[in-house]
Amino acid sequence: MKILAGLKLKELEVMMEEMGATKFRAKQIHNWIYSKSVSSIDEMTNLSKDFREDFKKVATVTETKIKLKQVSSDGTIKYLVEFPDGECVETVLMRFDNRANLTACVSCQVGCAVNCSFCATGKGGFKRNLTYQEILEQVLTIQRDTGLKVTNIVFMGQGEPLLNLQNVLKALEIFNDDFQIGARRITISTSGIIPKIYELAESELQSTLAISLHAPNHKLRAELMPIENKYPIDDLKKALSNYIEKTGRRITVEYILIHGFNDTTDCAKELAYFLKDLKCNINLIPYNSVIENDYKKPSNNDIMKFKYLLEHSGKKVTVRLERGADIDAACGQLRGKLHKEK
Ligand code: SAH
Ligand code: SF4
Repeated sequence: MKILAGLKLKELEVMMEEMGATKFRAKQIHNWIYSKSVSSIDEMTNLSKDFREDFKKVATVTETKIKLKQVSSDGTIKYLVEFPDGECVETVLMRFDNRANLTACVSCQVGCAVNCSFCATGKGGFKRNLTYQEILEQVLTIQRDTGLKVTNIVFMGQGEPLLNLQNVLKALEIFNDDFQIGARRITISTSGIIPKIYELAESELQSTLAISLHAPNHKLRAELMPIENKYPIDDLKKALSNYIEKTGRRITVEYILIHGFNDTTDCAKELAYFLKDLKCNINLIPYNSVIENDYKKPSNNDIMKFKYLLEHSGKKVTVRLERGADIDAACGQLRGKLHKEK
């Protein structure tokens, strides 16, 4: 049985040719999959009933299911999406009242091998990479369920995109060509896989690269992110400078603020100095308490002070709004919960 979700127009055209149908059919089906986001061939009502019956014998739109769904009072929707082998990942739809955009936060792996100390995903270990179709299916799941078109995508769900780069790049291509979501509306977040950042610098990637820095020096960063021992912060900075130089693009630096750990005035100054020559915006992420550990969220006052100090250094700084706090919409929580309840 062929799964239609994830097929490009060209592939659908070949399929139609094999079935003795016209190219126009392929276009119609493509439209049903990506624009109207149907979940079954029966819903493709401009195809004749006979054709649909034949088509159903060889193809199905999707085999991906919604295992759990939670809707937050702020409009955020969190899905636990299940693939045919029973593995699940989280996908979150965020709406921002003041903007016309619908942002999907997608996962690229089941679990994550990077194992950052603050992250619930890492705690479960690494299970497997997602295929590019499984990455696309998350956005289609949202569109099918809500009847809305996703406008922006962030790879900030579970997993490390640069450790599954081939599938992520293929998904990007299809988001561009078939979903009509422009590359500039897509952000890839990474914990800093240096060789892959050099590789990306040579590609034609038009999406935004976001770097999870989280600390201004080796010692603090190593406490949060074991990967710092493999890819240290000074080497990472060289890779980022090269990326910016080669692509001409501005990157985003993500920085989790943990009370008393990396939110001090000294840290802000050290971070400002570290980022001085890098063309970047900074996104501050107040720590979200997802697992049992000693980390605490900073106070609003401390967040604003940290932000001010960085702005003073001439950078554009944003603070990530907390979305879906009442439905555990932070990294790794829903999946973790399900496992506990099992
Ligand atoms: N693996 C990639 C992308 C997925 S994580 C990366 O690490 O960049 C996406 C973002 O969520 C990262 O910036 C990560 O640091 C952040 N995150 C993970 N756990 C968090 C928590 N408990 N509170 C706040 N942000 C968290
Ligand atoms: Fe993996 Fe990102 Fe979580 Fe670190 S923060 S464990 S890299 S998903």
